Amino acid sequence: MEKESGKGHKVLLMPSPFQGHITPLLQLGDILYSKGFSITIIHTSFNSPDPSTHPHFTFLPIHESLSQSEASSMDSLRLVDLINSRIKQPLKECLAKLMLSKEDTISCFIADATLHSTQSVCDGFELPRLVLRTGGAASFAVFASIPLLREKGYFPVQESRLEEPVVELPPLKVKDLPWFETRDPELFYNLTSTIFDTFKASSGVIWNTFEELESSSISNFSKEFGIPIYPIGPFHKHHFPKPSSSFSLLTPDTSCISWLDTKEHKSVVYVSFGSIASITEAEFLELAWGLAHSNHPFLWVVRPDLVRGLEWLELLPDGFMEGLGGRGCIVKWAPQEEVLGHEAIGAFWTHCGWNSTLESICEGVPMICMPCFGDQKVNAKYVSDVWKVGLRLEGKVERVEIERVIKRIMGGDDERKEIRENVLNLKEKVNLCLKEGGSSYNCLNALVNYMLRL
Ligand code: UDP
Repeated sequence: MEKESGKGHKVLLMPSPFQGHITPLLQLGDILYSKGFSITIIHTSFNSPDPSTHPHFTFLPIHESLSQSEASSMDSLRLVDLINSRIKQPLKECLAKLMLSKEDTISCFIADATLHSTQSVCDGFELPRLVLRTGGAASFAVFASIPLLREKGYFPVQESRLEEPVVELPPLKVKDLPWFETRDPELFYNLTSTIFDTFKASSGVIWNTFEELESSSISNFSKEFGIPIYPIGPFHKHHFPKPSSSFSLLTPDTSCISWLDTKEHKSVVYVSFGSIASITEAEFLELAWGLAHSNHPFLWVVRPDLVRGLEWLELLPDGFMEGLGGRGCIVKWAPQEEVLGHEAIGAFWTHCGWNSTLESICEGVPMICMPCFGDQKVNAKYVSDVWKVGLRLEGKVERVEIERVIKRIMGGDDERKEIRENVLNLKEKVNLCLKEGGSSYNCLNALVNYMLRL
């Protein structure tokens, strides 16, 4: 495939305005740019990406009038719902202007899967819409089954049934289902089914996963739906001829890299729960003491809003960090990909957001899973029980259990060795799938050909 095959073709891409969605969409832009396409990012003013990180792209803001305070007053389901209704009109106006311009041929519009309202807007312009799914294929299969699971009585998830198997979706248990704490369960059902309907109505799906990781979920989708599916991930491991700086809503504190430089090979536990998940005050303290008692060095990302209502670290007892004698490092935001690639990292205690999960696999880092909501629970199940590249922190977040899990994953016994071997195997598969002739490499070429024919 010619490097410049997309030349003269413009692609419009629109992210959902959250860290875990913007990053892979920009990475996809970089991948398509490397194939010669010109890239235009249409984005909300809320959480808008910084154009200076990608000077080779065109950025077009639309004005949906969503403020930070409005966004933080509602749960994530209502926020996604509101974004969908607010973007429709300004997106229509934006596309109307772009479609008038004759400079480049617009190949297609690529929208984050959660932006379902973009489907009808694109239909109005007869513009083909591809969907970007930033999460995994296995978790999407579970979302697709929500009407059935509801009919069978699994939803809303009940505390007393958590350990029951979901017989329709092995190997999941009820506790692994992607439930969201919400006051409006109907919204959960409606939103997931609308997203799924517009997924099926799209011209195709681009997936940040790879064949060797999720082959059965991917092939089930291919068989069941008549739309083309392109698993071309992991996006961040593609080689871009024009490197971009990564995009972060918060500024990464790079001082943790020199701190890691002082630590022994594979000795540090990296702890981060992504950009949205929050924990309670009691959990925060259990976490801190569990880390302290584990006796392993740790790098912990404590976002300012990790514990709602707090400034930052005021809950830590006086002298807590000093008492560790340099064994702990806490930052507000880390350069995560660089951290995971650092040789001092021995394990990643994660909430199992899909990007974090993929990034850990790509660097061959075993995981401790503490999923909080949504697809994270399905991802955690696959990490611990299917790919066997991590351990799940079970039950309530308690210091004794934390200490025990850290010791298990950092220890030298057979369990740790097996997990490590499995994750290194997957890392090797990542390397192969991106090489010439590999699954993601081939899929990307097929995607480019497809986009040129749209
Ligand atoms: N991330 C980061 N620094 C941090 C924590 C997270 O750069 O301190 C990045 C991480 O590399 C990942 C993204 O934020 O790309 C989080 O996405 P994920 O899907 O894991 O979780 P979400 O934030 O969507 O819950």
